[in-house]
Amino acid sequence: MACEREAGLAYGYSIARLIREGMRGHRGWEPAWRDARLAPAYDAVIVGGGGHGLAAAYYLRKNHGVDRVAVIERGWLGGGNTGRNTTVIRSNYFFPQSAAFYDFSLKLYEELSRELNYNIMFSRRGMWSLAHDRHGVDMLVRSANAMRINGIDAELCDGTEVLRRIPGLSPRRFPILAGLNQPRGGTARHDAVAWGYARAASRLGVDIVQNCEVTGFVIERGRVRGLRTTKGDVRTEAVGLATAGLTSVLAAKAGLRLPITSYALQAFVSEPVKPCLDTVVLSPATGTYLSQSDKGELVIGAGLDHFVSYAQRGSLPWMERAAAGVAELFPAFSRLRFLRQWAGTVDVVADSTPILGSTPVAGLYLDCGWGTGGFKAIPAGGWCLAHVLATGASHPLAQAFSLDRFTTGALIDEAAASGIEH
Ligand SMILES: Cc1cc2nc3c(=O)[nH]c(=O)nc-3n(C[C@H](O)[C@H](O)[C@H](O)COP(=O)(O)OP(=O)(O)OC[C@H]3O[C@@H](n4cnc5c(N)ncnc54)[C@H](O)[C@@H]3O)c2cc1C
Repeated sequence: MACEREAGLAYGYSIARLIREGMRGHRGWEPAWRDARLAPAYDAVIVGGGGHGLAAAYYLRKNHGVDRVAVIERGWLGGGNTGRNTTVIRSNYFFPQSAAFYDFSLKLYEELSRELNYNIMFSRRGMWSLAHDRHGVDMLVRSANAMRINGIDAELCDGTEVLRRIPGLSPRRFPILAGLNQPRGGTARHDAVAWGYARAASRLGVDIVQNCEVTGFVIERGRVRGLRTTKGDVRTEAVGLATAGLTSVLAAKAGLRLPITSYALQAFVSEPVKPCLDTVVLSPATGTYLSQSDKGELVIGAGLDHFVSYAQRGSLPWMERAAAGVAELFPAFSRLRFLRQWAGTVDVVADSTPILGSTPVAGLYLDCGWGTGGFKAIPAGGWCLAHVLATGASHPLAQAFSLDRFTTGALIDEAAASGIEH
């Protein structure tokens, strides 16, 4: 509480506070988090101020009581993929290890606004995957069975029921033969997830340092002893890398070669319209998925660019495919205009399963390999990274996600299991 007061962060958000501030011209709001200066030494440092890094810092303090914790971000908080994604949250994975991990994450999401005292606008609106041909139906049946075996909510419906449940969806070009819904799936405001964790971590005393790039490591006899940054060196014996598409570049500076390939993944929003789509719809056959944001924009996602890139910009072919997919599934949307397009650099691994745990360098841990689907994993990823940073041992939920599966061969091939992975 002392550090909260020093930072001017002693008060939570509440209706009473809102009314009080409203009555005095909103002059009493404090910054959501302290912009800290880098100290010379920490008990643990997390590189990357996206959702995973910020969540890990929060759980390091909250679950493990680790004292001096810093998050170092080369740009601004949430400026990586966390602030660029299409916000889909679900746990409809195929293999039991993935289902257990992502469902834990979903459960944390369900309570996150209360936990962080920050409205992350979690909206449990369901997520539908569509089947347009017999093969697609077989895939949905297989997924539904796996989900039920894994204890995940799953609703398999025939085409008539899907068309009844999703107004505006048209079977004209692509027949709708079946749909698989995860009713507990949905969306959340991506920036709010980063800001909520940042604020909560800062209230617990975490130093959040923006505009500071980690440029190298101090490693002695196989153990990490510190980091080199653009704001000076820092001593620490526990480092977590939560740097998404740049993790392989950074890890190479510690002598590690990671099985990660970075690609641009892009998304689009339309101009805003009145509420017309109250769920998330994914059509693996067209490579398109969409939902409607609270602002009214259609949020449209697509697949990876098929060339390696670190640029946060997409290319025209997916823009064309995504627009065609939306127009063919929902003809009524064909007159909408795109308002914005953007991309992020995603960290793809061959089996589309994250890498979460230790490395051959003692004290250096990874939280990466999320590819196109790590927004939904932020609470659980942060939870498990905090666990391994604090204890040196993998959390039981993350044991199967170790780096050494690429040498033992114990891959968890979710790549084949869920069409587009968002
Ligand atoms: C267009 C798009 C759509 C997506 N849709 C979904 C979706 O619907 N659902 C879903 O679950 N996932 C989705 N994802 C994936 C998801 O966004 C990511 O997996 C997730 O946000 C990764 O979070 P992170 O915290 O690991 O990484 P980031 O949010 O990318 O954070 C990493 C941070 O590390 C910083 N950094 C890098 N190098 C350094 C350095 N040397 N020093 C200091 N800082 C550094 C970066 O600046 C960045 O801020 C999507 C991604 C994109 C791009």
